[in-house]
Amino acid sequence: MSERVIPLVDQRLRALAATVPALPIAATGLLSDSLGRPLSDLRISVTDRCNFRCNYCMPKEVFNKDYAYLPHSELLNFEEITRLAKVFVAHGVRKIRLTGGEPLLRKNLEILIDQLANIQTPDGTPLDLTLTTNGSLLARKAKSLKDAGLNRVTVSLDGLDDAVFRAMNDVDFPVADVLDGIAAAKDAGLGLDANGQLTGLKVNMVVKRTTNVDQILPMARHFRGSGITLRFIEYMDVGATNGWCMDDVLPSAEVIQHIQQEFPLVALEASAPGETAQRWGYANANGVFDPALGEVGVISSVTQAFCRDCNRARLSTEGKLYLCLFATQGYDLRSLMRGSQASDADIASAIGHIWHKRDDRYSELRASMPADSSPNSSSTARRVEMSYIGG
Ligand code: SAM
Ligand code: SF4
Ligand code: SF4
Repeated sequence: MSERVIPLVDQRLRALAATVPALPIAATGLLSDSLGRPLSDLRISVTDRCNFRCNYCMPKEVFNKDYAYLPHSELLNFEEITRLAKVFVAHGVRKIRLTGGEPLLRKNLEILIDQLANIQTPDGTPLDLTLTTNGSLLARKAKSLKDAGLNRVTVSLDGLDDAVFRAMNDVDFPVADVLDGIAAAKDAGLGLDANGQLTGLKVNMVVKRTTNVDQILPMARHFRGSGITLRFIEYMDVGATNGWCMDDVLPSAEVIQHIQQEFPLVALEASAPGETAQRWGYANANGVFDPALGEVGVISSVTQAFCRDCNRARLSTEGKLYLCLFATQGYDLRSLMRGSQASDADIASAIGHIWHKRDDRYSELRASMPADSSPNSSSTARRVEMSYIGG
C-alpha cells in the first residue's frame, strides 16, 4: 500500500487575503476569468465532517479520532453563507451545490436550503439548487429537503455488492440503506424538472481499478431504465492523503467499453455549457438512443481534462474561496464579513477581482507535470482535501 502523506502544516490555516480593489468591480453577471471562463456554478461545503471513511477521500489512518476538524465557531453560519451566495448569484452563478464532508450531517440544513431557495436571480431564472450526499441519511431527510426547496440530489454509491461497498466506505455501511435513500429521494420528487420529468436524480460511482471495476456492469443494469442517471467518476489525485497513483485510475473510455459488452450506447450532446460529464445514451434494437432506457455519464477528470470550460468556484466550510479542486490556498471571504465588515458591493468587488485573475487548469497541466507531483511530493502535500472543499 502507498505511504500516506500527512501534511505538516494544516492547509486550512493558510489563506490568501481577499482584498477590496481600489477600482470597484460591480456584479453585472458577466464576470469572466483570465481564460474567458464565466462564474456560473458555486459549490458550498457545509461541513468538513463525515460518517463514512471512503478510502479514496477520508482514509481512516488520517481521519481518525485525533483529527482536528474545524470548530463550530469557525464555520460560516447560514446567514453568512446566504449572504455570500447572493453576491455570487449577482455575479452570474445559477447553480449551487451543497456538499461537504457529508452535508446532511449539518444541523438544520433545511433552514439554509430554504434561505438559498429564496434567492432571486437578476433575470428571474430559477436557481438550480442541488446537493451531493453519501445517502446514509437521505431516507430520513429526502422529504424535508424537498419541502425546504432543494431541487435535486446526487447520491454517491460505489457498488451494489455489499462487501465491496462496506469495504469502500470503511464504516461497514450497507448498500441497502443507500438504495432506500435513493428511493426516498425519488418518492419525494427530488430531481423532477419543470415538465415533471425525472432528469435530475443522479448516482455517482468513483471507479478504482483495484477495487470496484466488477461493480460497473451490476450498477449499469440496476439503474438502466430507472430514470436515475448513473455517472462514473475517474479516481482523482485530489488532496494529499489518499495515496493516489495513476495505476488505480480506470479511464472512462474503458468504463464505456465495459458497459457496451452488454448494452449498446450512443454518444449524446452535452446538456449544458461547462458540464463535467460526457453523456452516453442506451440504444434500442435499432441502435438509436432510447430515452426510456436513460443514459450514463462519465467524468474523465484525469484522462480528458475539462478545465477549458470550468465555471466552478468552491466555498469552503469556513468561508474560503477556492478557484480549483487542486488549489493549495483559498481566499478568505469570511474575514471580509466578520473582520472588516465589508458591504455586499465590497464583497462583490473582491470576488470579481479574484475571479478576473483566475488562470487555474490543473488537470490540463497534470500530464506535463514533473515527477514532483507524485502523491508523496511536497507540492501534493499542500493540497486541500476533497472532504474539506467538497467535490
Ligand atoms: N459526502 C458526500 C458524498 O460522498 O457524496 C459529498 C462530498 S464528497 C467529497 C463529493 C464527491 O466526491 C463524491 O461523489 C465522492 O465520491 C467524490 N470523491 C471523493 N474523493 C474522490 C476522489 N479521490 N476521486 C474522485 N472522486 C472523489
Ligand atoms: Fe465522506 Fe463523501 Fe468523502 Fe466518502 S466521499 S468520505 S462520503 S465526504
Ligand atoms: Fe476546474 Fe481545476 Fe478541475 Fe480544471 S482541475 S476542471 S480548473 S477544478
